[in-house]
Amino acid sequence: MTDTTPGDVSLNQGGSHVFGRHTGHEQVVFCQDDASGLKAIIAIYSTALGPALGGTRFYPYDSEEAALADVLNLSKGMAYKAAMAGLDLGGGKAVIIGDPARDKSEALLRAYGRFVQSLNGRYITACDVGTYTEDMDVVARECAFVTGRSLENGGAGDSSILTAFGVFQGMRASAEQMWGQPTLSGRRVGVAGVGKVGHYLVSHLIEDGATVVINDISDKAIDRVRHDHPEVEVVPTVDALVTANLDVYAPCALGGALNDDTVPVLTAKIVCGAANNQLAHPGIEKILEGRGILYAPDYVVNSGGLVQVADEIEGFSFERAKKKAARIFDTTKRVFAIATEEGVPPAVAADRLAERRMAQIGRLRGVWLPAHG
Ligand code: NAD
Repeated sequence: MTDTTPGDVSLNQGGSHVFGRHTGHEQVVFCQDDASGLKAIIAIYSTALGPALGGTRFYPYDSEEAALADVLNLSKGMAYKAAMAGLDLGGGKAVIIGDPARDKSEALLRAYGRFVQSLNGRYITACDVGTYTEDMDVVARECAFVTGRSLENGGAGDSSILTAFGVFQGMRASAEQMWGQPTLSGRRVGVAGVGKVGHYLVSHLIEDGATVVINDISDKAIDRVRHDHPEVEVVPTVDALVTANLDVYAPCALGGALNDDTVPVLTAKIVCGAANNQLAHPGIEKILEGRGILYAPDYVVNSGGLVQVADEIEGFSFERAKKKAARIFDTTKRVFAIATEEGVPPAVAADRLAERRMAQIGRLRGVWLPAHG
């Protein structure tokens, strides 16, 4: 989204933004279990389209305020992502405050599961930074509202497979918008971060006939790509990648990749990658547009993983989930069409489309049905 940063969130009366107009969240739940050390915050931004699905981030936040700011921001992002993916899901997210390496335990995860269960399905959890499939299996011992579970427990397994597939579809749509053909064949694509998503994306690109340049701070991650695709070029820093002669730039590491330092020197004509929250601050989308760079909004193209875990709710089918993720191609094209029609950058067009769907479909809940939410 283009205007989501809740900023300096405070719980103090007078300075409170939990109830403020900046957030608009439906519900924020603080969960504490002293014995296991659990300190969690679950934020539900919207259930206009359905239960709020989003992962659990286990992270050693510097402060409770920082954890709150993160969960408010992330849960809002999930609502927009689900809306644009055409899912019947709202947006939520949870954070557990602590160092997963030190603080994670069966008791803590199960205590967390009981709090998720207490929301009775308004929030459905999944993996995120610091939580893994095996953790979700533990949470599920106390709770029915868990996705991202292991394959042996009916889960979808590694969500980065369809995330990468979806980003590739978004990139094909961007190529068609920019150059008239939905292919990366003959183009030079820079991938920043070749972790779980990035390395699958590289394979799609090579298969499509692109030339690929990569960067990562992890030698292990680079070696894995070079092992599978020795033809891939490696550059030593992200700065070197951004200023390399690229047609497409794919940020697949951290958020904030598009900022006041990178955008002015970017050589690529398209930006399309997996990282969440790529726009460092509101206004960057306009600078990109001013430079003639086509930006495929992050939450539109990286929703394949959400589509994958959401499919678990119906009983997981990889083929069905892949078909849904393939729609990211058409959705990305629709975002570009609305951007042109309404004279706004694609990031703004995506926000508008997501908000319209939440309003239009959410409105239907006003038609009363017996024994139905
Ligand atoms: P990951 O941790 O497996 O991979 C990230 C890679 O980026 C790692 O190899 C890491 O070494 C590298 N990296 C970190 N900092 C870097 C830096 N400063 N410069 C260069 N490389 C750097 O994570 P992932 O699951 O592949 O996710 C990548 C991005 O996509 C994240 O922003 C994530 O939030 C987003 N995303 C992931 C999924 C998913 O299904 N995994 C879904 C949606 C969005």
